[in-house]
This record gives sequence, structure tokens and C-alpha cells, in this order.
Amino acid sequence: MQLLTRNFHLKDSHTLRVYREAGGYEALPKALKMAPAAIVEEVKRSNLRGLGGAGFPCGMKWSFIPKDHSGPRYLVINADEGEPGTFKDRYLMERDPHSLIEGMIISAYAIGAHLAFIYVRGEYVRSWQIVSAAVREAYDAGFLGRNILGSGFDLDIIIHRGAGAYICGEETGLISSLEGKKGWPKLKPPFPAVRGAFDSPTIVNNVETICHVPHIINRGAGWFAALGTQTQGGTRIYSLSGHVARPGVYELPVSVKLRDLIYEHAGGVPNGRALKAVVPGGSSAAILRADEIDVVMDVDGLKNAASMAGSAGVIAMDESTCIPEALWVVARFYAHESCGQCTPCRESTGWVYKMLGRILAGKGRPEDPDTLVDVAKRGAGTTICAFYDGAVGPYVSYVEKFRSEFDHHIRAGQCDARPGQTIASAMSH
Ligand code: SF4
Repeated sequence: MQLLTRNFHLKDSHTLRVYREAGGYEALPKALKMAPAAIVEEVKRSNLRGLGGAGFPCGMKWSFIPKDHSGPRYLVINADEGEPGTFKDRYLMERDPHSLIEGMIISAYAIGAHLAFIYVRGEYVRSWQIVSAAVREAYDAGFLGRNILGSGFDLDIIIHRGAGAYICGEETGLISSLEGKKGWPKLKPPFPAVRGAFDSPTIVNNVETICHVPHIINRGAGWFAALGTQTQGGTRIYSLSGHVARPGVYELPVSVKLRDLIYEHAGGVPNGRALKAVVPGGSSAAILRADEIDVVMDVDGLKNAASMAGSAGVIAMDESTCIPEALWVVARFYAHESCGQCTPCRESTGWVYKMLGRILAGKGRPEDPDTLVDVAKRGAGTTICAFYDGAVGPYVSYVEKFRSEFDHHIRAGQCDARPGQTIASAMSH
């Protein structure tokens, strides 16, 4: 079942002409004849969950905007796709930007917003260019601006480029950046739906989440919900990378199992090697061993497996992977991207990175793995935003599930997956 990727193979799929020939902008007039509250209810019934990472029910988030608020409200699209292992929003923006724009118009109408923003990751220059051109086309065709399709509804879209900070993908950090301030996350509550951009109610949704909205309007909440599991409707796009024969983006119902995703769809592990581990939902998800992949890839399935669906960035690692080195790469990322506001996050991410470097350099101490897990766990749940908890997931799970590899590194001063491995050779690839 292809909803979001159905146009990807078409020539010039990013243009308004091709989008309309493929049935695009048919949901919009239908939605503009509905009451906004009815659209919110429809999205609630569809079981659409946020697909950027948190997995929060989309319609419920929309309903948190105070009903009696008379001032401006905003819709903000989080296109700051920075979770390592994730590249599906880039495909959506470059191959089908009008599905995002149509979804935005319907969503803005539903929540009563007349101004919407797309916050595009700074490195995604091509995405920004293509989405900008698509927004201009939509204005020219009367899908944006004043009195859209004669409905009396007005909507403007502003595209804002990020500047390379992962933390601006966190919704309150994103809003701060959008306002022209340093992209620092803020404590919640207040949640953005109550007090967000420019102190007004703001709904922040991920690109992929909003691209689903026209399909829900066109084919109904019941149909969408039935595609998925009991608590999550529809399909989602899985980004497959690492040791799989056919890396890429795969759109599948959220009821798909991780084993099938890797072996049936992505062609299994190449070079006759065995699978060692999988990260199922971007780098912040706890790692799974090869014997733990019979898991359903929806939000609750992965939560029950003590990991998370996150951004659906699936990274496969075969038996040649050095797990301590893989964690060192992940730790380097979190140490670099911490915004530094909270002491546990600022200090622990640096300590963990240095400790792993010491282990890889053959200078590890026997107590290092326990110290690492202890340091990581102590800060969990104490910080302003979920960034640090997202780092704790890999820190703890890599060490606890592959403890013998860390111990071997410390004992032997080198890797057992690739004998002779040191930090110098690790840094060269
Ligand atoms: Fe910044 Fe880390 Fe605190 Fe989040 S948890 S606000 S990234 S220091």
C-alpha cells in the first residue's frame, strides 16, 4: 500500500501539474466544505501518530489548542530532519512537495491558523529549493493566499531554513529558532499548542505526518486506521541503511515486522554475513539484538520491546560491526549536539564520548562499562528536553546488550569483531 510514495516514480513528480494529474488537491475542496472541528475528529479517529519521533496522536495534539483563544494560531512543519539514519522527509519534500502543501492547508484550516511555517533543515538545500518552488506554484494556482478556492479561508506559508543544529528539531528549540532566538529548548508546560511561536498557540507537526492528512480526508479515518494496528493507523516510511542489500526508503503499513522489513523488503544482510544488531527508530532508539527483531514496527510494538519507533530510521549492523565503535560514533554525535543548558546532558554526553574513546584506544578500565551506564542513567529524566533521554537509550542498551564486546576491548586492548581495530583506524572510515 503506497500513499506517501505513490508519486515518487513519476517524472517531474515535484510539480503541481504532475501532482494534480495523479489526483492531488482533490482532498482540499472536500476539507474546506467540512467544519474544522470535524476534520480534527476525523484525524483523531484515523489514529494518525506523529511520525517525527515522539509518536503523539496527531488529532489529539490539534485539540489542545484552547478553544477560546481569539488571537493568531500557527502551524509549523518540522522539516528539520536530523535524526541519524533518517532520510524520509527529504524524499517527501523533493519528490512530492505538493502533498505536504495540501496537507498543510487542510491542517491549518482545521486548527484555525492563517499563517504556517516550514522549518527546513539547513543542509537540505535541494529540499528547500523544491519546496519553495512548489509553494510559489500553489500561490499562483490559488491554493494559497486569500480566499482559497472561494472558501473564504486565507493561508500564507513562510519557509524558514535552519542552520545545522540537531536540537532545532526539538519543537520548543525549533520555535525559539523560528522566532530569531538561539535554538534552545524550553521547559514544558506550557506546551506549544497552548503557548508556542510568538506566544500564540502553535501546532508543530512533522512533514510525513501532515502528508497523510489528504489521504485521511479522501478515503476516511476508518480506512486509514484499518491499515495499521489498534493504536496507530496508516503506513509510514522506513529509512533503511547500514548492512542491508537494498538500502532506501520503504513505505509499509505500521504493522510490518522488523524482520520482514530487513529480509523481505530490503533484501537481507549482504555478503553472506549474519545480522548482529538493529537500531529500529533513529540513533536515539535503544538497539535490538538479532534475536529481538520479531517486533511490530508501530509506536507501541517498539515501546513494548524497550526501544522506540522514533523517526523509523532503521540501521542494520552485521557481525563485522564493532559495537563499542558504533556507540562511540553515536556518542560523538550527542556530545556535539547537546545545547549545553542542562548540566547532566552537557557533562554526561562529553564524559561518555571520552570514556568510549579511551576504551577504543585500548586504555579502557574494567569499571568503565558500569561507570558509563551509571553516569548515563543518573541524568535520565532530569533535563529540559528529551535530547538527553534520547542519548541514554543507545548508551545503556549498547553496553547492556553487548557487554562482552566492551569487556573484550578493555581486556585485550582491541576489537574482537575486527582484530587490530583501534580508535585511529575507527576514525579513518
Ligand atoms: Fe539542551 Fe541537552 Fe538540556 Fe535538551 S537536554 S535542553 S539538548 S542540554
